Amino acid sequence: MSYHCRVLVPVPFHYPPGAGARVGAGAGSPFPSASRALRLPRPRASVEKREQVAAMEEQGGQAALGWAARDDSGVLSPYSFSRRVPKDDDVTIKVLYCGICHTDLHVIKNDWRNAMYPVVPGHEIVGVVTGVGGGVTRFKAGDTVGVGYFVGSCRSCDSCGKGDDNYCAGIVLTSNGVDHAHGGAPTRGGFSDVLVASEHYVVRVPDGLALDRTAPLLCAGVTVYSPMMRHGLNEPGKHLGVVGLGGLGHVAVKFGKAFGMKVTVISTSASKRQEAIENLGADEFLISRDEDQMKAATGTMDGIIDTVSAWHPITPLLALLKPLGQMVVVGAPSKPLELPAYAIVPGGKGVAGNNVGSVRDCQAMLEFAGKHGIGAEVEVIKMDYVNTAMERLEKNDVRYRFVIDVAGSLGSAA
Ligand SMILES: [Zn+2]
Ligand SMILES: [Zn+2]
Repeated sequence: MSYHCRVLVPVPFHYPPGAGARVGAGAGSPFPSASRALRLPRPRASVEKREQVAAMEEQGGQAALGWAARDDSGVLSPYSFSRRVPKDDDVTIKVLYCGICHTDLHVIKNDWRNAMYPVVPGHEIVGVVTGVGGGVTRFKAGDTVGVGYFVGSCRSCDSCGKGDDNYCAGIVLTSNGVDHAHGGAPTRGGFSDVLVASEHYVVRVPDGLALDRTAPLLCAGVTVYSPMMRHGLNEPGKHLGVVGLGGLGHVAVKFGKAFGMKVTVISTSASKRQEAIENLGADEFLISRDEDQMKAATGTMDGIIDTVSAWHPITPLLALLKPLGQMVVVGAPSKPLELPAYAIVPGGKGVAGNNVGSVRDCQAMLEFAGKHGIGAEVEVIKMDYVNTAMERLEKNDVRYRFVIDVAGSLGSAA
């Protein structure tokens, strides 16, 4: 079978809360386009609401300086605001580094029609604790910590009860989320000098990890680690395929090797072979457009992590799986993927999705990364480069993650 596909662009992606619920709601078709499913209603930011939010911000919270997008141009510029007054279980964090995820780009450009401007992006945050509320038990001032994709959940639903808080319908995103515990104010992310979050959504960063290289693990890292654990793709000797070598894929390769697995990178671009094998430690490299190579690898893999967000055929990838093998989709092409029954039924194969990971998974992932010295490959930038970085990210011109030196940018100069 031919495998002529568009360029495989590995792009981290997360659905905004509520997007999944809209799938199936389209009139006339049980299969609305994913792009339609992602079109969330534009929030009505009434004057009253803005004033209410402004009033809340004036009630004694810590002054914060961030960079925000004010409209769908997505251009970021300095923005002064106040963090919420810390609650009993809140941790105040001085932000040191914040990674740039492709989701940030979608949000600041209002691609999902849910931007609540001004938007302060950032959910791959590493920082140091500067203060704790009276009820905080797990952290103290001086601790190095991380905050990922979300800073709240309902803590009472079935998912929360099982520790799968990343699948809670009441999830509160770290950036551009709705802070229910604070009058519905929009949350502002890690492109800022200070953050206040409940200790339940803060993770400890083990000693010895390079903090700039750790920041992307808070989103990209846990997004691949979590499904690897859930589907048993963490056992020595098993064979893992990683589709797309970007922010997510390159970390998946590192985790796979640290688990003792055989790892094969699957890409459209032969130019990434050397990087994959020599620098990231992959065992093999498969060019997805090469029918002979794909045929030779048929039925050899226990699992595949597909990180590609551009539309691409998955049938040839499913053919690489052994019987009962598992593919996990962590990218999200806007056009529906094609899944012919013959690709999964005869081999009893599975196709699953995954959206980031729980706080528990995130902590376990960091412990694992600490033990094996795993960090993302990063390009560290100052905040005043962020708009250029966003332009480059849009073209996937980064190896493999931009990380903002927040403390080094906003600490004194701004
Ligand atoms: Zn992300
Ligand atoms: Zn919940």
